[in-house]
Amino acid sequence: MDKILVTGALGQIGSELVVRLREIYGADHVVATDLRSSAHEITRSGPFELLDVTNDKAMFEIAKRYQVDTVIHLAALLSATAEEKPLLAWNLNMGGLMNALEVSRELGCQFFTPSSIGAFGPSTPKDNTPQDTIQRPNTMYGVNKVSGELLCDYYFHKYGLDTRGLRFPGLISYMTPPGGGTTDYAVEIYYAAVTTGRYTSYIAKDSNMDMMYMPDALTAIIDLMEADSSKLTHRNSFNVTAMSVDPEAIAAAIREEIPTFILDYDVDPKRQAIADSWPHSIDATAAKMEWGFHARYDLKAMTKDMLCKLGERHV
Ligand code: NAD
Repeated sequence: MDKILVTGALGQIGSELVVRLREIYGADHVVATDLRSSAHEITRSGPFELLDVTNDKAMFEIAKRYQVDTVIHLAALLSATAEEKPLLAWNLNMGGLMNALEVSRELGCQFFTPSSIGAFGPSTPKDNTPQDTIQRPNTMYGVNKVSGELLCDYYFHKYGLDTRGLRFPGLISYMTPPGGGTTDYAVEIYYAAVTTGRYTSYIAKDSNMDMMYMPDALTAIIDLMEADSSKLTHRNSFNVTAMSVDPEAIAAAIREEIPTFILDYDVDPKRQAIADSWPHSIDATAAKMEWGFHARYDLKAMTKDMLCKLGERHV
């Protein structure tokens, strides 16, 4: 990676990834783009362009103008929102991906896009979910993610495009709020802990899902993109995870720091149905073996850091 274009850069992942990439590769080497603008520092600390990823010509023009050699495609509609707006999800998630792949093919770029644990479905083995297994998701987001994985593999095999991806679990972070996913509760619970001291979960007790802290997710993206291509047997996409937790487990970890924290439940059937279709815990062995994936934060370490960082903001 030398000159990198990031789409959807103002979202939960992009807003932190661009900062990390600019520290490593230089501010001028990372072109942040999004459909919207904001006062976020990434719009000022290096190149920033307005870009709707469904506009193929605009994407090509920006990528060519900045002579990028890497595309990191993040713009997407997330699981809960995609289920509410399935047509928009198809057009954005598949149309945007196709445009980003075509631009990368025409300009010979290395390519990354995230998949998700949403790419699995009800018939997938739920515990220790293998890297290669049944993928028959029953959500629009899941259909988009499986199709995206296949499309990225297709571009690798047909055109030799260096496509790579990660199946992210729910990502927990304190910088930018999550954008409409099923695991958003696992971020909201920390915000609530430092503000009101109680949280009402829309996800049921005992619903275990994989999660990872944002610093580990950013490292995973960069490590995968920098990995020796010849060592990769898989490409699109690698299972990665740091922990498998339910709301009770997170609440118990929060109570280690804030003993008075209260957790209630008011389950949202729509988001619960999505959660019920996903694995309980996925197996990240292929990522560990092929490019050395390693998560530094477990639930305890992540909780300590989240509460500390959010606490600093609310004093
Ligand atoms: P987000 O919703 O926080 O951010 C998405 C960004 O895309 C937003 O800034 C939005 O303005 C932008 N966007 C929307 N429509 C656009 C368009 N037409 N053109 C350009 N930009 C547009 O999402 P995120 O959490 O940062 O996720 C990024 C990627 O990672 C997605 O592919 C998502 O499916 C995947 N992922 C995220 C998680 C997670 O927990 N955050 C987990 C698994 C996979």
